[in-house]
Amino acid sequence: MSIKAFECRMCGHCCHGEGGIIMSEKDRERLAEHLGISVQALIEEYSEERNGKLSLRTGDDGYCVFFREGCGVHPGRPDICRAWPFFRGNLIDAMSWEMIQEYCPGIAPEAGHAEFVRQGKQYLREENLLRYDPEIDPNALITDED
Ligand code: SF4
Ligand code: SF4
Repeated sequence: MSIKAFECRMCGHCCHGEGGIIMSEKDRERLAEHLGISVQALIEEYSEERNGKLSLRTGDDGYCVFFREGCGVHPGRPDICRAWPFFRGNLIDAMSWEMIQEYCPGIAPEAGHAEFVRQGKQYLREENLLRYDPEIDPNALITDED
């Protein structure tokens, strides 16, 4: 059996930083439904706009507004959170994959980049996370053709 190329260690690094958690319309609807609030309320209370795209706000500690020793909205989290670390750059470039290992301890270096790509693409396909509209979705998401 092949080594698991990624298993989250819950360190929280990927929930830290501003502006990275871009939400498509689908993301906003799912998260609002999970929170039991309207999409408008989600936008007003929890998001901010950058370069024409809406992203989740961060708290004073620099973590995503929903971070609570782990994701506080796990079933409703945006696609970009579901897709990490299988982002386009990490899939097409072995150097990026190597560099993010310091940042994300869930990545298993011993699995190798080819296996990371194989498992990542399979996961993205199974979870229906292949990007469909470059105008509104985060660029980090990969398409079926990439
Ligand atoms: S950086 Fe990696 S190990 Fe840490 S919480 Fe994010 S996915 Fe999990
Ligand atoms: S929505 Fe959840 S997984 Fe995504 S950045 Fe916020 S706390 Fe992390």
